[in-house]
Amino acid sequence: MDVKAPLGTEDILPEQAALWQQVEATTRALFARYSYGEIRTPIFESTRLFVRSIGDTTDIVEKEMYTIGEGDDSLTLRPEATAPVVRAYMEHNLHKTKSFQKLYYIGPMFRHERPQAGRKRQFHQIGVEAIGATDPLLDAEVIGLACHLFDDLGVGGYRVRLNAIGTPSSRGGYRDLITAELTRQLQSLCPDCRRRLDRNVFRVLDCKNEGCVAISRGLPHILGHLPEAEQAHFRRATEALRSTGVPFEEDPYLVRGFDYYTGVVFEITHGALGAQDALCGGGRYDNLIADLGGPSLGAVGFAIGIERLLMALQATAGAAETPPLDLYIVTMGDAARRAAFAYLSQLRHSGFAADTDYEGRSLKAQMRTANKLRARFTTVIGDNEIASGTLKLKHMATGAETQVSGVETILQELREHAGESAGGLELNT
Ligand code: AMP
Repeated sequence: MDVKAPLGTEDILPEQAALWQQVEATTRALFARYSYGEIRTPIFESTRLFVRSIGDTTDIVEKEMYTIGEGDDSLTLRPEATAPVVRAYMEHNLHKTKSFQKLYYIGPMFRHERPQAGRKRQFHQIGVEAIGATDPLLDAEVIGLACHLFDDLGVGGYRVRLNAIGTPSSRGGYRDLITAELTRQLQSLCPDCRRRLDRNVFRVLDCKNEGCVAISRGLPHILGHLPEAEQAHFRRATEALRSTGVPFEEDPYLVRGFDYYTGVVFEITHGALGAQDALCGGGRYDNLIADLGGPSLGAVGFAIGIERLLMALQATAGAAETPPLDLYIVTMGDAARRAAFAYLSQLRHSGFAADTDYEGRSLKAQMRTANKLRARFTTVIGDNEIASGTLKLKHMATGAETQVSGVETILQELREHAGESAGGLELNT
């Protein structure tokens, strides 16, 4: 068949899925410690939701959305989850039961971008949204949480950058100032930035083109042009972050690709990722809930790209392994296979991971499989074992053999060694 997975999408096969599961399990356990509750929203939403929240001059809304239908019926595969989470928060009146909510999500997002390493059309994000508070300590908590997750997963070498970008009204003066300056240097800007000048001038600060970088580095910093209260918020957030020991840098040129951000924004990058080096992006969005018709409530969140997280993880920690098997039963002959099958059922119902051969392969081939599955114990069942009703369980880490008879004694032996890592000895094949 010549049908392949669509461009920019990926199958996650069992070997890789083990790592995904590990990341997800670590995430859930850690987020629970910070009292974030999971929220799952549909993967498509009314198109209006994204146009109104992300902004109609952003790359995503201009050219990257998967949309079907027109007008009020138009639907879009979610390109991000902050707007859907806020929609759900308002739709279910969560602010009426408990105005401050800490929520998290894990799931696929869709953007019609030009695929390249680290840039997919279907990718996955882990994200949090803390809705209902303007406290700068919360900004620090959210940033610290992303770093805590990276640390728990063993992703080393990430870089945290922070800036404050104000609100549409508080940054108006700065916008006029840089628009005037950039207009003077119009001829030296790249074609994209010339276009951005009218539509979304802040994105010039974010342009990777060398000429544009040189020009934006000569512009004044936004922070000094924000009202004192917003500067104080930024100072409090950075002080709090410093108190948690998270290493970070202030980057006066950091901006984000969505219109809804106000105040503190941040990005976490990783050197092993190449051109698409952002692992995580986030910030405050104190106007979004009101802009979407809800109450005026502060909020802050982030999104981590899971594919990129796995790339960083593999670069720093090496490939994760699937969990080891407790017991692999090697069989010789039909009667042995039937006996093994009955044992397996009981072992698995008792909570152990156990397996056997279903292809009638040689003893040597079965031993190889046991090794590959990193079995803690192996046993060989042949005619003698069936006649005597006893088995020898071989503990792979030490090579020690224990005589057992009946499933209860097998279980007892496995329980005694539960929680051990896989066998260190190679099987004698
Ligand atoms: P954003 O929602 O654009 O702030 O992105 C948050 C994170 O999602 C980024 O830092 C990336 O790790 C990840 N990400 C965004 N777009 C893509 C994409 N097209 N492919 C893979 N990961 C992505």
